[in-house]
Amino acid sequence: MNETPTRAYAEIDLAAVRSNVRALRERAPRAELMAVVKSDAYGHGAVPCARAALDAGATWLGTATPEEALALRAAGIRSRIMCWLWTPGGPWREAVEADLDVSVSGTWALDEVRAAAREAGRVARVQLKADTGLGRAGCQPADWAELVGAAVAAQAEGTVLVTGVWSHFACADEPGHPSIALQLTAFHEMLAYAEKEGIEPEVRHIANSPATLTLPESHFDLVRCGIAVYGVSPAPELGTPEELGLRPAMTLKASVALVKTVPAGHGVSYGHHYVTERETRLALIPVGYADGIPRHASGSGPVLVGGAIRRVAGRVAMDQFVVDIDGADVSAGDPAVLFGPGDLGEPTAEDWAGAAGTIAYEIVTRIGGRVPRVYR
Ligand code: PLP
Repeated sequence: MNETPTRAYAEIDLAAVRSNVRALRERAPRAELMAVVKSDAYGHGAVPCARAALDAGATWLGTATPEEALALRAAGIRSRIMCWLWTPGGPWREAVEADLDVSVSGTWALDEVRAAAREAGRVARVQLKADTGLGRAGCQPADWAELVGAAVAAQAEGTVLVTGVWSHFACADEPGHPSIALQLTAFHEMLAYAEKEGIEPEVRHIANSPATLTLPESHFDLVRCGIAVYGVSPAPELGTPEELGLRPAMTLKASVALVKTVPAGHGVSYGHHYVTERETRLALIPVGYADGIPRHASGSGPVLVGGAIRRVAGRVAMDQFVVDIDGADVSAGDPAVLFGPGDLGEPTAEDWAGAAGTIAYEIVTRIGGRVPRVYR
């Protein structure tokens, strides 16, 4: 889009994405980097961010669903792409035909992908997922021998090539958490068993962004980074983006829709949870929870408008919220910055996460499709 939208837009700094990928590669110099671009690249736009990440040295892309991965192929992206959210009856034949790497957590999944490979007359690239302690997807240690045995048989029959063995941390954003060492030990054991049985994975991987930043012994052959690629800190305890050498890629901007004065004692927004104590100038910001602004940040979400940070007054509604501009000289059409890198005094995604009682991942990812993305 060339013209700047008038209501609101998310400015995406692709140079920041490239710089973050380079910074992460320096943190994990012996590993390949998979840029995780699921959920529209955490709200930043999957195709432009994927291209920027590949330009800067990422060699793999990661998605949750096969549909997300197929959309990258349809956009002409030829790099390795792995998708890990397996569901029965998924588009596995298309995935095999598109040379995607598909994760399987059990023999039932492997069998379905194997059947798809037979139908397609192609070899399916499969990555075996070990549940080393997350307790989500992945094969339990007790079922690992069965899955590895089935994978060895499928390789011998020529329908499957096991390209990876991988896992995912539960608490990598809490350095020193006892589960981290336990998961690493379990991963080493499950990997050693698969290798003893004749699996020769091209890539072994377990690290997400926080592990890439804090735990070199978790890097193996490849690191899978999502949030850090977009310059957002995985957790406040790990440091600010700047302290981590990252630059936030998304700035969320809106235009003030209207400014007006209301008398003292006036309720503001649904439920009247904010009542003016004096004659008050209010500015209307034309974004709401339909755009991904968390309703949980009612009364607390920060916005830079009229040269100062203002808080959401009253509730965030579906399409709009109000701020008290404290007599400042603000007019309709003036910029309101909800979050960005913070260098111009604007709040950050981490600040909104604090205000809404959530994580910064959710703040950027939930910015909705009604908000145009403008790339620079
Ligand atoms: N790997 C898997 C399996 C994931 O689900 C995710 C995201 O949740 C990532 C890697 C990337 O995690 P992060 O955004 O913390 O880097």
